[in-house]
Amino acid sequence: MSEPTDTIAALATPVGTSAIALIRVSGPDAAKLAEQIFRELPPPRLAQHADYRDRRGELVDDVLFTFFAGPNSFTGEDSLEISCHGNPFVAQKIVEDLLARGCRSAEAGEFSKRAFLSGRLDLSQAEAIMDLIHARSERALAMANQQLRGALGRRMEDLTSRLIRILAKIEAYIDFPEEDLPVEDAATIRRELEETLAGTRQLIATSHYGTLLRDGIKTIIVGEPNAGKSSLLNRLVGHERALVSAEPGTTRDYLEERIIMGPHWLRLIDTAGLNPSPGALERQGIEKALEQAETADLYLWVVDSSRELPSLPGALASRMGPVNTVMILNKVDLAPVAGIERIMHTYPVVRVSALKGTGIEQLQLVVTKMADAFQINVGGDLIAINARHLQALEQARHGLDAAMAKLDARSDKELMASDLRCTLEAFGQIAGRIDNERILDELFATFCIGK
Ligand code: GDP
Repeated sequence: MSEPTDTIAALATPVGTSAIALIRVSGPDAAKLAEQIFRELPPPRLAQHADYRDRRGELVDDVLFTFFAGPNSFTGEDSLEISCHGNPFVAQKIVEDLLARGCRSAEAGEFSKRAFLSGRLDLSQAEAIMDLIHARSERALAMANQQLRGALGRRMEDLTSRLIRILAKIEAYIDFPEEDLPVEDAATIRRELEETLAGTRQLIATSHYGTLLRDGIKTIIVGEPNAGKSSLLNRLVGHERALVSAEPGTTRDYLEERIIMGPHWLRLIDTAGLNPSPGALERQGIEKALEQAETADLYLWVVDSSRELPSLPGALASRMGPVNTVMILNKVDLAPVAGIERIMHTYPVVRVSALKGTGIEQLQLVVTKMADAFQINVGGDLIAINARHLQALEQARHGLDAAMAKLDARSDKELMASDLRCTLEAFGQIAGRIDNERILDELFATFCIGK
C-alpha cells in the first residue's frame, strides 16, 4: 500500500446553517498551513482562537483551530481541525482558500481510509465509524461502539491465531507425504478445526441481527379491513400518518414509517386489510401485503375484538409464530365477542384500544422483548456483522468444511493446508488485510466526504 503524500481538506459537517462548521485537513503540509494561515504552530491538541485570513490577507472569520501531530491523530498524519461559524458561505470560502494553498479536495471516506492505511484502525473499526454515524437506536449505537473498540477485530484475531496453529501442525507433516498424520494429532486438529468452525458459524449467525440494526426491524401490521391497523400505526408513530376510515379497505397499498421503540429501530409497515372476499383493486393490495409479509421480521396481527375472530391466509399464518407475532386485540373499549379469549393461545396477546390509546405501552414492551431475542452475543460482546463480513466468513466456512472433509478422508495434507490458507485469507479480509486497492476504494467511497 502506497503512502499518501498529498494534503487533503474537506468540510466534515453538513452543508447548512448551524452554530459551528468543522473543516478537516490532513497530510504532510498541515503544520506548514497552520503557520501560514495563523502565523503560529501551537502545541498539538490545544485549541487556539485566531483570525482566518485568506491568501490575500482578507479576514474570513474568527475560528478555533487545533493542530494534531502525526501519528497521534485520527488519520495518523499531521492534521488540522478548523471550527468556523456555521455559515455554508464562510465554510466554503475557507475550504476554497485551503485548496488554493495546495490542498486537494478529500474524497468520500478519505480521512478514514488514511486512518486505516496508517494502521490507526482496522477495517472493521473503520466500518464501525459509519455504523456509529448511521445508528438510529440504542442497540445499533452499542454495537457500533463495541465494533469501533475492536470487538469484532479481537474475535477475528482469536480465530486467526487458532487457525495459524492448526496450519503449522499440518505443515510440519507436509514434508513427509508418505506418512499419515498420527492418530492423536489428527484428533487434535479435528477438534481445533471444529472449534474454529463453531466460532465462524457463531459470527455468521449475527448477520441477521446486523441487518436489523442497520436497516430497522421490518414489522408488518396485518389484519382484516377495519380492524384498526391504520389507527394503530398512527398511535405508534405518534401522529396521523395513515388514513383512518370507517369504510373498510382504505389502505390499498402499504405505508412505511420508521419508529424508535425502546432500544430498537422499527420499519413499521401498514398493509391493506386481508379481506376474505376482496374486489379487484383490494386484491392487488392484499397481494402486496402478502409479499411484504414474506420478508417481515415481526408481525402485529390486529384483530377487532368486538367481532368474530377471522382466519389468516395460510401463506401468512405459516410464517407467524409465538416468537415473531403479537396478536393485538383491538377495540377493547367496545364489548368483546364472547369466547374470543379461548381461541388465542398461539401468540402473545395484548389488549389495545388504538382509538383511546390504552394498552399501547404494554404492546411496546412485548414487541421490545421479541426484538431483543434477535440479539446474539458472542463471548459477551454485542457483535452484528455486515454483508461484507458475511461474504468473507462464508468463504472461511467453506474452506474449513473442505479441510475437515479432507482430514476425514485422510487425503493429501498439502490440499488441506491450501484450504486453510484460503480460510486464513478470508478471515484477514474482515480486519482488512486486503491488498487490493480497488476493493478499498469501493469500500471507503460509501463513506461521506470529510469522514
Ligand atoms: P384499518 O382498516 O384496519 O386500517 O382500520 P382503521 O384504523 O381505518 O379503523 C377502522 C375504524 O375502526 C375507524 O372508524 C376507527 O376509528 C375505528 N377504530 C380503530 N381502532 C379502534 C378502537 O380501538 N376502538 C374503537 N371503538 N374504534 C376503533
